[in-house]
This record gives sequence, structure tokens and C-alpha cells, in this order.
Amino acid sequence: MRILILGGTEEARLLADRLVAMGHEVTTSLAGRTTDPLLPKGNVRVGGFGGAEGIASFLKSERIDRLVDATHPYATQIKTNAVKAAERAELRLVRLVRPAWHEPQYAFWKHVGSSEEAAAALPRGARALLTVGHTRLEVYLARSDCSFVVRSIEPPDKPLPVNASSIIARPPFFLGGELALLQEQGITHLVCKNSGGVQTEAKLAAALQLRLPVLMIARPTLPPAHEVPTVGQAIAALRLDRA
Ligand code: NAP
Repeated sequence: MRILILGGTEEARLLADRLVAMGHEVTTSLAGRTTDPLLPKGNVRVGGFGGAEGIASFLKSERIDRLVDATHPYATQIKTNAVKAAERAELRLVRLVRPAWHEPQYAFWKHVGSSEEAAAALPRGARALLTVGHTRLEVYLARSDCSFVVRSIEPPDKPLPVNASSIIARPPFFLGGELALLQEQGITHLVCKNSGGVQTEAKLAAALQLRLPVLMIARPTLPPAHEVPTVGQAIAALRLDRA
């Protein structure tokens, strides 16, 4: 079968590897945001499609049989476009989304609905570790009464103001390193998305151990789709034995 995977996550890469090993013709699509990304087996295409229409034409011209949206849980636009494109092309879409993290007992999580809410929730004088990628950084950095350490895979698009410094690092992260980072940088608050998965969860254990508050930005609401939490379940949901 010819399968298009919308990727940019570890699960997308693992899924492509498994499907290629099963003998399917797999193309993974990457947005092209990360320089030197880890590449999956099979074909890789890079860059936007030009909206839902663009994905639908690609599905048609490449004679794709199945579509998997394995993009990050917060990649709202591409997820919405995937649903529309699958409807237009009348083919099966499976959305692979890793389960969200759950607040452990005795943790200090404040659940917020947006970056704006997270930024507003920081008390004056807070020193926050921002692990939100490049999303709405300016909203936090405008808080001149707070200071920030911005950790991201790619450097920030713009120079940071004097109240912020940047750390470039790529997951996986582990507890020892996360504890050291939080302590050495004098962090008082952790701000993050509920990305789920094991690669970046050590920061939550470290925050819990140090009794630091976490501002957890809620996952976005997405249009309905056949959603599964694991690579194995995605393969089953693709119904690759049927036309
Ligand atoms: P987004 O806001 O949902 O998408 C913006 C636009 O980028 C889409 O409309 C599409 O352009 C293009 N695009 C996104 N993912 C693509 C893909 N896999 N293949 C081809 N084009 C893609 O996405 P985002 O939040 O910027 O995330 C971009 C990529 O980074 C995603 O692939 C996601 O899996 C990965 N990622 C995101 C986050 C996060 O926190 N958002 C974290 C880790 C990894 P066109 O409309 O032109 O097709």
C-alpha cells in the first residue's frame, strides 16, 4: 500500500520504519522546521503542501491509499488540514497521538488554556524555564518583571531581550540533567505543553522533586478523527489488509 505519514515526531518515524519493514511504500512529510532532523525509512518530502487542498492533490497525484497524521499534538493547523484532505480524497485517515501526561500526586501543576494565560500566571520576579518551542515566545518575554531560560531545538527566530537566555538542546532529556538545569539556572517555574511521551517528561519529575510549580498549557481541541495512542494501534487501524 502507498501510505503518507504527516510527521515531525518520534512516533511518526517509528511508524514509517515499521511500515517499510512490512513492505509498504511509505512517504513521510516534514514541515522543514528542524535542521538536520532524524529521518525515517522510506521516502521523505519536506515543506508545506499549501493547505488542505494541497494535501488532497498530493494524495491524488501520488495515488496514496492511507493517510496517517502523526504530527505533534499541538500542530493544530496541519491536523485540521489532514481531516479535510482525507474527506476530500475519500481515504482512511488515522491520527496517531501520544497520550497526554497526567499530573502526579503531590505535583504543583497549574492548568492553563493558552500561552497568554501561562504568561499571566507567572508571579512578579519568577524565573521560568520555557519549553514551548517557538510558540508565542513574545507573550512571555514581554513580562519584563520576570526572567526566562528558553530551551528549544532550534535557536529562537529573533534575538532575545535582556531578561532571557537561550539553551539549544535536543531530546531525550534525563532526570539528572533536568535537575541540574533547574537548580543551576535558579528556575522557579516550568512552563510547558502537555506533549506526552518519554523523551521530554523528565523535566516534570525534576520539577516535582524540587517542588517547583508547572504551568501546563492544555492540548488544543481538534476536529474529530479516528485517533489511536500507539504505533501498533495505528498499524491495526490502517486496515492494510483491505482495499
Ligand atoms: P502547524 O501550525 O499545525 O502547521 C503550520 C503549517 O506548516 C501547516 O499548515 C503546513 O503548511 C505546514 N506543516 C506542518 N506540519 C507539516 C508536515 N508534517 N508536513 C508538511 N507540512 C507541514 O504546525 P507546527 O505546530 O508549526 O508544527 C510543525 C511541525 O513540527 C509538525 O510537523 C509537528 O509535528 C512538528 N512539531 C511541532 C511541535 C509543536 O509544539 N507544535 C512540537 C514538535 C514537533 P501548509 O498549510 O502549507 O501545508
